[in-house]
Amino acid sequence: MTIAISFDNSYSRLPERLFTRQAPVPVADPDWIALNDGLAREMGLDPDALRTDEGLRVFAGNAVPEGATPIAQLYAGHQFGSWNPQLGDGRQILLGEVVGPDGVRRDIALKGSGQTPYSRMGDGRAWVGPVIREYLMSEAMHALGVPTTRALAAVTTGEEVIREAALPGAILTRVAQSHIRVGTFQVLAARSDTEGLRALAEHTMARHFPSAGSVPELLAQMVARQAELIAQWMSLGFIHGVMNTDNCAVAGETIDYGPCAMMDVYHPARVFSSIDAHGRYAYGNQPQVALWNIAQFATSLVPLMPDQQKAVDDFTAIINRFADLYQAAWLRRFGAKLGLADPLPEDRALIEGLLTAMTREERDFTNSFRALAEDAPERATSDAEWIAAWRARGPDLAIAARANPQVIPRLHRIEAAITAALTGDLAPFEEMLGVVTRPFDPDPDLAKRYVDPPGEGDRVDRTFCG
Ligand code: AMP
Ligand code: MG
Ligand code: MG
Repeated sequence: MTIAISFDNSYSRLPERLFTRQAPVPVADPDWIALNDGLAREMGLDPDALRTDEGLRVFAGNAVPEGATPIAQLYAGHQFGSWNPQLGDGRQILLGEVVGPDGVRRDIALKGSGQTPYSRMGDGRAWVGPVIREYLMSEAMHALGVPTTRALAAVTTGEEVIREAALPGAILTRVAQSHIRVGTFQVLAARSDTEGLRALAEHTMARHFPSAGSVPELLAQMVARQAELIAQWMSLGFIHGVMNTDNCAVAGETIDYGPCAMMDVYHPARVFSSIDAHGRYAYGNQPQVALWNIAQFATSLVPLMPDQQKAVDDFTAIINRFADLYQAAWLRRFGAKLGLADPLPEDRALIEGLLTAMTREERDFTNSFRALAEDAPERATSDAEWIAAWRARGPDLAIAARANPQVIPRLHRIEAAITAALTGDLAPFEEMLGVVTRPFDPDPDLAKRYVDPPGEGDRVDRTFCG
């Protein structure tokens, strides 16, 4: 092994019952899909050393680099509101953590790396489609300024994965500030493992909330980050799709790009996920669901408090701040989309007026807001009164241009990239990656092909977990 990764694996120093030591399961015949040079450099890794046969073996799980302590992490979760007492990394192996030259500690994990003790009925694998989707979505979200897990590499496995058909297998190397989920706390609370819970809380504070210093403050800061995160999702028309508590990262990053999507036509009740029959995770429900998840987090922290009755009251007060924090973040984000640097409470009606008009007129979310930045409000709505009110408010178009991307990773383009990849053609994926990772200033010639909403023939209405 010549690849030198300076691992510093703090999670695997926590109590052993929080994970299972488990190496990735080797694959038959790996090949490259992508390597993220920029992210590698941010992490202090040399992309040229990674873009080698040896690097390929590492990202395929066929070689474990020196210093890695591969583990599958334990967690639980509420899935669509129902409690599942044990989940865990059913198809992911955390290789370890590195601290980059920027001082940021990051997890390096292989997703789709074979069965683990937590796989239940699953095969532990992923296929090319969801790997490409997560790569594009997470890197686009990062470029849009949203806290998110990242994609360091993607490889094919040379093996078939059986889903609705036999499909080519793939592995995503996912990078995150950590993979500590609300469900990680929940599993320990459910097992009355107060000692484990305390170790996890201390680890989480040291790692993600260094200024917290107490459990209530940990909760307060977590609440504030979720409020910011969800407001950012909303401002981009992003629908996560599976906001289960195991898919809620305590550090405040977007995690688990399964059936997610960014909306084309705006509607607050929009749902894409094929498994979300009742619209629990619809666009407009996301703030409430985040609050519900936060309440589960708070519940799992109660055993850490000396006076548990008092803790319930204190935590309730902290949780209740979410609404105001979220509303303030929403107003700031959507105010900026209208070109307002310091939106006032009364601007809320102006923003909502546009959203109502967009719903009525079935307008494209991204392109309508972008039209404001381009001083073409008539492309956002035909509501002349609204346009007059907006102009009268004196919007700063430079602010709107920084808040409203030109291109987003539209679902139909992702599907087209996946379809091409299945025939061995990675060019559409690579082109799209280049465009969506410069969402505010894409290459003008290329961007043309990515700004249009889908036509009748290529509209994608349903997403799947994969
Ligand atoms: P998700 O819906 O992606 O959040 O996954 C829910 C749970 O199912 C997690 O514990 C995953 O690790 C597990 N899981 C998802 N897909 C697979 C698979 N193909 N094999 C094993 N476990 C899986
Ligand atoms: Mg998950
Ligand atoms: Mg998933």
